[in-house]
Amino acid sequence: MNRIHLRNLSLDDLRQLVTSHGQPEYRYRQLATWMYARLETSFAQMTDLPAEYRARLEAETRATSIRSALVQESATDHTRKFLFELGDGARVESVLMRYEHRTTLCVSSQVGCPLDCIFCETAKGNFQRNLTAGEILDQICTLKAEAGAQDQKINVVFMGMGEPLLNLEEVVRALRVMNDPLGLNMSDRRITVSTSSFPERIRELADADVSCSLALSLNAPDDETRKQLMPKASRFTIDELLDAARYFVRSGRRRVTLEYVLIPGLNMSIADADTLGRLTHRQPFKLNLIPYNPGRVDPFQRPSEEEIDRFVARLLPVAPAVTVRRSRGVDIDAACGQLWNASLNEKKKPVKETASFSRGGD
Ligand code: SAH
Repeated sequence: MNRIHLRNLSLDDLRQLVTSHGQPEYRYRQLATWMYARLETSFAQMTDLPAEYRARLEAETRATSIRSALVQESATDHTRKFLFELGDGARVESVLMRYEHRTTLCVSSQVGCPLDCIFCETAKGNFQRNLTAGEILDQICTLKAEAGAQDQKINVVFMGMGEPLLNLEEVVRALRVMNDPLGLNMSDRRITVSTSSFPERIRELADADVSCSLALSLNAPDDETRKQLMPKASRFTIDELLDAARYFVRSGRRRVTLEYVLIPGLNMSIADADTLGRLTHRQPFKLNLIPYNPGRVDPFQRPSEEEIDRFVARLLPVAPAVTVRRSRGVDIDAACGQLWNASLNEKKKPVKETASFSRGGD
């Protein structure tokens, strides 16, 4: 018999399952507390449930569907990167980043990614499938347990492998459990869904009955440059994307973060900073600049501190709230997709080559 993965159930469905087992309704609250507050995956440890009921759960269900296949710890900071193996053998990456007063968990929404952004490691492998809500929650719960920081502030960012809005249904199902007080009890301040495109789906997420923040991977100041960096994500124009981002904010949500990966020679000239400044001036956005994190074999370079400073100085007077994201876990393949690709290479699977790219006249 195929065992039911409990984290794939909504909390309502979990209640129905437990009562269909002839248990009193409060049992489901006990079970949910073990699953999401205590992060327990062994039914044997759920000691306030009757022994026979634990045995039944063990036989008919499972509390997690992933196992960690590889963990890498950075020698320079407290970043830990996990390669998780799913029930069907597919693998995804998640990253645990610990800062002084908070912990950020970076999770995947798909195995591989159907988009083809030329700077992204995930795009070099093949897209395999969407993750289920249960597999998304498994990553979060496993990392949270690993962090051992029940009382610390935990942030979750959907910035691992995949495009969350191309798996919107399962992402929304996971968000519901993340928001629920009986689930992970997290507010929109602590959850960021990061997307590269899809204005209609941004609106759908804005209208959905879930709380989260939104980040939009802009990465270029104009459509022409964006098309070269992110060909598939550029099916929609920057205007259409920013309109959708404004809709998200108008629907009562937090300011949208525009992510902008800084790649020397491609998108960080003074003219680029000026265009980006004009685009964001007095808009309900925050701007997060991400110095490009090179892979093992890569045609692009990390920007120098001087190049970053020059770009920031030019933007600061005009753009809204500018921050620079400092790379973490640089020594452990921590850019999204890097560890996954390394593991695919070990399995001797072919990996797509990225085309090298240079912009004419720059
Ligand atoms: N598909 C989603 C989420 C995954 S990528 C999205 O595009 O938003 C998460 C962020 O990492 C994006 O802003 C992306 O532009 C950025 N990114 C991807 N590869 C990177 C690299 N090598 N160095 C720095 N940032 C990178």
